[in-house]
Amino acid sequence: MEKKIVIAIDGYSGCGKSSTAQKVAQVLGYIYIDSGAMYRAITLYCIENEINLENTAQIEEALNNIHINFEWNPEKQRNDIYLDDRNIEKEIRKMYVSDKVSEVSKIHEVRVAMVAQQQRLGQKKGVVMDGRDIGTMVFPDAELKIFMTSDIKIRAKRRQLELEEKGDKIAIESIIENLQKRDLIDTTRTESPLRKAEDAFELDSSFITFEQQADYVIQLAKSKIKNDNTIINSDVIANFTTA
Ligand code: C5P
Repeated sequence: MEKKIVIAIDGYSGCGKSSTAQKVAQVLGYIYIDSGAMYRAITLYCIENEINLENTAQIEEALNNIHINFEWNPEKQRNDIYLDDRNIEKEIRKMYVSDKVSEVSKIHEVRVAMVAQQQRLGQKKGVVMDGRDIGTMVFPDAELKIFMTSDIKIRAKRRQLELEEKGDKIAIESIIENLQKRDLIDTTRTESPLRKAEDAFELDSSFITFEQQADYVIQLAKSKIKNDNTIINSDVIANFTTA
């Protein structure tokens, strides 16, 4: 049987991590896990239940009450996230959640609970997980680590189109502001800040197509699965840098 690996995709908000991860998982027949959706789910719960983020006891109680699940959506061919029995996939992408999510994600108790759940989800390997600390904290031994970056204006435009498709018209300036604010909190927080793992491949998605970026990761994954580093050292890098 073919060896199964763990693929960790980290990077800034809006670089295309989740669409890339989904495509890679689909091609390899792996499970895709959106760790950001889990932090967004906690944030939604905290907003709806007016949890005081300064109050550790309240946070701990909330974490005991929160049940997050992923369920396959055959129409979209991806997992949707559920808070208890409620599909919150749409709600967690809204700006009022994006505005608060990085504040919630820096709380120690939240991170401990989420990392434990993410590690359980990846126990059997054959997973692609995207986030901020997957290659550094959740799966430091992941066989393949990718660190994605992209120009801020391109990231904001992409986010704006995604929101527009869902019926939310948001000015580009407020999206840029939200991305910058989240990047700052995510990279400077004391606990598991966003940073590139030493053994991660860096992928700048600013000026390449979606197909190119997904293909880059798929080729790296295939060569890691086969333990054949020749592809990594020559073709992929050559194709990628000339793209
Ligand atoms: O990936 P997405 O942009 O949906 O993530 C939302 C937020 O969740 C991030 O800005 C970050 O604050 C937090 N997050 C995190 N660690 C992860 C994934 C997301 O802190 N592994």
